[in-house]
Parts: sequence; structure tokens; C-alpha cells
Amino acid sequence: MSSKSEERREHTCISCGINISGTSAAKFDCPECGTLIYRCSKCRKQSNLYECPDCGFTGP
Ligand SMILES: [Zn+2]
Ligand SMILES: [Zn+2]
Repeated sequence: MSSKSEERREHTCISCGINISGTSAAKFDCPECGTLIYRCSKCRKQSNLYECPDCGFTGP
């Protein structure tokens, strides 16, 4: 499923996993390792927890 979609990466919400390209999603760096994290406006509003895919840091 992830064989040849390498070059046009789609951004997905870190919390709910929806495709957020073209939406007003928040974008920020992981405070631990600096990995770029995307979160949709809905999850941001609900203050859903996120988990960094790289270091496992969780935060609001
Ligand atoms: Zn979301
Ligand atoms: Zn991290």
C-alpha cells in the first residue's frame, strides 16, 4: 500500500488519521525530537492527545 506514494506525501492528522491536506490543520514540531506533526482543526479543538511517531512523546 505504501510502495510508490513516496514523493507526494499526504499529511494526516496525528490524532485521528484523516487526510488534512487542504484543510486548516495545525502544524508543529514535536517538543522532544522536532518531528513535524500535523493535527486537524477538529482534534485541536477537542485537545485530543497526540503521540509522536518518532519518539513516542504524547501531549495535548
Ligand atoms: Zn484529527
Ligand atoms: Zn518526537
